[in-house]
This record gives sequence, C-alpha cells and structure tokens, in this order.
Amino acid sequence: MKAIISHDIDHITVSEHLLRDMIVPKFMVRTNIELALGKIGFQEYFLRWNDFLMNKWQNIDELIAFNKTKNIPSTFFIGVDKGIGLNYSNNAAAVWIKRIIEHGETVGIHGICFQSLDKVKNEKQCFEKAFNIKPKGMRMHYVKRNENTLNYFNEAGYRFDTTVHSFENPYKVGQMWEFPFQIMDGWIIENGKKWQCRNLEECKEATKKSIDKAFESNLNYIGIDFHDRYFSKSFKTWIDWYIWLCDYLIENKIAFTSFEKAISELESQTQTKLQAIL
Ligand SMILES: [Zn+2]
Repeated sequence: MKAIISHDIDHITVSEHLLRDMIVPKFMVRTNIELALGKIGFQEYFLRWNDFLMNKWQNIDELIAFNKTKNIPSTFFIGVDKGIGLNYSNNAAAVWIKRIIEHGETVGIHGICFQSLDKVKNEKQCFEKAFNIKPKGMRMHYVKRNENTLNYFNEAGYRFDTTVHSFENPYKVGQMWEFPFQIMDGWIIENGKKWQCRNLEECKEATKKSIDKAFESNLNYIGIDFHDRYFSKSFKTWIDWYIWLCDYLIENKIAFTSFEKAISELESQTQTKLQAIL
C-alpha cells in the first residue's frame, strides 16, 4: 500500500472573510470553546490570535518545506469559485498557485460546482483562464457531490478526482480515475463536532484504526487530506498529528506517491492484464 497525501486550501487571509461570511465569529467561538474545554493551552490560544492579527490563515510554504523533508509530493486543491467559508480572491490564489508550481508541486481545483455539467465545465474553464494552467485533478470543497457529479467531472475532462470517501481502490469513471480517500484531518480531530474534541493520543488511535482498515480492505493506495491552515503551532494537535502520521507511514514502510504516478502505475497494470488476456 502507498500513501497519497493532498491538501485543500480553504483560506488564505483573515480579511477575505470580513463582511462576507461567518468564519471569523465561528473562529472566535471555536477558539474559546477549545480553551474552556482544555483542548488547547494558553500558548496555542495566543498563537491563534497572533495568526489572526498577522492576517495569515495559510501555511503553504511551511507545508511544502516539511513535505520535502519526508519526500512527500504535495498536491494542493485551490478554488476559483467562492463557496461556504471559501472567499479568497483570484489574485490571492494566483500568488500561491505560482509559488506551488515553482516548488515543482501539483495544483488541482477545489471545486464548488457539482450539480450540473455546464457549471462543472464552466468552473474548470474559469480556473484555466484565470490562472493560465490546465489542472488535471479535483476535490470538491466539503466533498459535496450527487449521483452524477463524477460523470460530470469525467465529461469536463478531469484526469482524476478525489472527492469520494470510502475504503475502495481507485476506479475509472469513463476516462477519469476516482481516488477514494480514507483519512481527513477534521474527521479525526473534531470527530463530528465543530471544534477539537480528541487529544493527540486519541487521534493517533483513531488514525491507526483507519490505516488497519485500509490494509484489511486490500487498498493499494491510502488517501489522506490535510488542510494547510492547520500546519501551524497555533493548531498544535493538528500539526503534531500530521507530523506523527507521516512518520508512522514511513515506519510502516508505506511509501508516498502522487496521483500522477499512481495513474501511470494503474494504467500500466491494466495494459499488462489486457496483454495477458490477448
Ligand atoms: Zn475545502
């Protein structure tokens, strides 16, 4: 089994949310609840306000630098349309897309549209026009989809999608590969709540269970989604959990790969099987 790690960019600055959505008041409530429940300490609490005052809610450079130390290819999904709590401008996104590409890493679309083929196609075209690149991959914001969404992605020309959460191996939808993913930071750490409710040890136990389940399900690839926003000491459990998870995968001889390399592997396997039949 190999691991494919990817990152969703939901925020870039604090100010992009002001007067546009409820993210800032929610952040205030969440931070105070976590402090009151003893899930975070005073240092972490102050670091969160420091990020807030610095207007910095992304950690893209820091995450790429860390991933490089572990030989982890980085794939970032970044939005062009606005969605729930996703309100950064194309100008802000363009700066980071350029940076990610300069680092030799991969950019995909963090999608908002999923309910019609026209809207899905339009979102892809808007992205290509706004940023002058042709991204191959997609993950929906909040993993939203309906029974037709994957077909729309295929028809819009995506090479892969990783929106489905299930313990299944990658499969084809038309010409597109669907890579189901199994582990998301928020599902582990918040466990169904709107704030952190597990400590690091509880997070590790829950994660080990998911990795065991991936082995039991004979998965060839385990998919992990970690948001760059949380690669910061102001979210101590989150960053500690991610660093622990990468080391745990290495200790367990699970190599890191990218969606592109996995697609090459899957397609050459299909070719070999076809040749054997013929
Ligand atoms: Zn998102």
